[in-house]
Amino acid sequence: MASVLIALGGNVGDVRATFAKAIAQICGMAQAALIARSADYATPPWGDEEQDPFINSCVEIETDLDPHALLFVLQKVEQKFGRTRDKERRWGPRTIDLDMIAYDDISLQKPDLTLPHPRLFERAFVLVPLAEIAPDRVISGIRVRDRLSSVSTQGIERLPDTG
Ligand code: AMP
Repeated sequence: MASVLIALGGNVGDVRATFAKAIAQICGMAQAALIARSADYATPPWGDEEQDPFINSCVEIETDLDPHALLFVLQKVEQKFGRTRDKERRWGPRTIDLDMIAYDDISLQKPDLTLPHPRLFERAFVLVPLAEIAPDRVISGIRVRDRLSSVSTQGIERLPDTG
């Protein structure tokens, strides 16, 4: 079984409900076990600031799917929850974005899949939830908690559990 870290983000619709459904779908489709799930965080929009705040979260799953098969599942789940990439602007509003942050210690550079995720360490909105579930994970030689301590987390707010 591989340990995979996945980042979730979205800012259109009932994002927290979409996350819960999407996680269940991922685990079903990938025959994966959910190992850890961070809280949800409200985060300032990034890149394109003329849009609603985002909600971000991270999960760890264990699966036997290989990285590309899992990417296919993530893209299917994005589509199912209404994401239409062709109508979106880069960094713009979206129902759900699913990024594979790390797949075991695999390093991959393919046109459609880079592992670990290349922009992971620039993004506090990924690092904050990631540090909640995998603070000591070393990705590309960098410990998650160490990197988090050197980025600004201004404007990022932990949301109360939905119960
Ligand atoms: P985005 O629109 O930001 O979600 O980018 C999605 C595109 O990034 C897709 O076409 C994927 O094939 C590609 N991609 C490359 N590496 C990854 C990764 N680690 N996780 C998810 N998508 C990836």
